[in-house]
Amino acid sequence: MYEPLTEQKAIALAVRLGLFGKDALLSCQEIGDGNLNLVFRIVNERTNDSIIIKQALPYAKVVGESWPLTLKRATIESQALRTFASYVPQYVPKVYYSDESLAITVMEDLSHLQIARRGLIEGKTFPKLSEHIGEFIAKTAFYTSDFGMNQQQKKKLAQQFTNPELCKITEDLVFTDPFFDHDTNNFEAELRADVEQLGQDDVLKCETAKLKRLFLTKADVLLHGDLHTGSIFASDDETKVIDPEFAFYGPIGFDLGQFFANLLLNALARDERDREPLFHHIEKTWNVFVRTFSELWRESDEPYAQISGVLQDVLHDAKIEAIGFAGCEVIRRTIGLAHVADVDELPLERRLDAKRHALRLGRALIVQREQLPIQAIKQLVQQTVH
Ligand code: ADP
Ligand code: MG
Ligand code: MG
Ligand code: MG
Repeated sequence: MYEPLTEQKAIALAVRLGLFGKDALLSCQEIGDGNLNLVFRIVNERTNDSIIIKQALPYAKVVGESWPLTLKRATIESQALRTFASYVPQYVPKVYYSDESLAITVMEDLSHLQIARRGLIEGKTFPKLSEHIGEFIAKTAFYTSDFGMNQQQKKKLAQQFTNPELCKITEDLVFTDPFFDHDTNNFEAELRADVEQLGQDDVLKCETAKLKRLFLTKADVLLHGDLHTGSIFASDDETKVIDPEFAFYGPIGFDLGQFFANLLLNALARDERDREPLFHHIEKTWNVFVRTFSELWRESDEPYAQISGVLQDVLHDAKIEAIGFAGCEVIRRTIGLAHVADVDELPLERRLDAKRHALRLGRALIVQREQLPIQAIKQLVQQTVH
């Protein structure tokens, strides 16, 4: 039977599950800073062993009980973590236990690492971040695609990751509301004219409609679905991806695009001279993705895989999607419901500059995505200053 855990109940659960030794002295703290769920950290004070229990609530915490949200997302999350672990165990927390009726995932405590968004805001570089995320995306994408797994099994896996409620959040908040005058939007009064201009931009809206349609229809690979820098724990040498409750079968470029967008938003929040590490991360993620995905492609049993031009076509689509989805994410994080701390923590004048720049950059990424090489994103940032 479902009930929301308290710190005391989380400890009792950990004891009941035998997750710690008999003489453990347990303490617990709710540390969740996300929008949707509870996160309990339980520590054995005698040994310093620790675990995390993440629990879904039957509503979105950020909005409150007026926004009901399926508990099934906890099952999607634990299944996605386990699926990713079968390909890239080094990049996800270990799952120790999960319970569908309680909507919990019990997992490895990653508190020795830092949420990448927070570290990037502090000016950290995380030198391995792009190598690791490029490999994470390439391997999970390839091995869950029709070129990397049995095509009948893939259809079953895609069914298991049918995630309509969480996909709807993305369909509304990323692809729709920011481009229409919707009451979920959230922006400074000073940006009213800029937002209205977006709403009247039929060229832009036609392109975002195409991207939304891809998101709705292209069941290509298993995606994380919410791969912003707040879903990544990092240090100088380790990277772990958390929070895949939005996982579903979708277009190959989506996770790349969300990751790029969040790096770009961090770049826009910095002085111009400090942006280089972010551009470097974008290019390196892409290069590692292409290299790793192309190496795996040689293993494919699909008869068309070795036909000249097929891999190039897949990678070309991935690039166009990544840039277009990045544009949508940049815009929605600027004027939509959920923002990023990178920009929101700036003082008003700098924030307004960064946000106006973000809107121009987002638009340019979307409408130029077919012609733009990844290496040109950096110039595009410069070209959209005014
Ligand atoms: P939400 O879905 O609500 O966004 P997250 O999975 O992103 O929840 O977790 C929210 C926060 O809880 C993270 O930003 C992090 O501070 C903490 N957290 C989540 N998982 C772990 C973990 N495995 N180890 C340590 N801290 C964690
Ligand atoms: Mg926290
Ligand atoms: Mg989160
Ligand atoms: Mg989440």
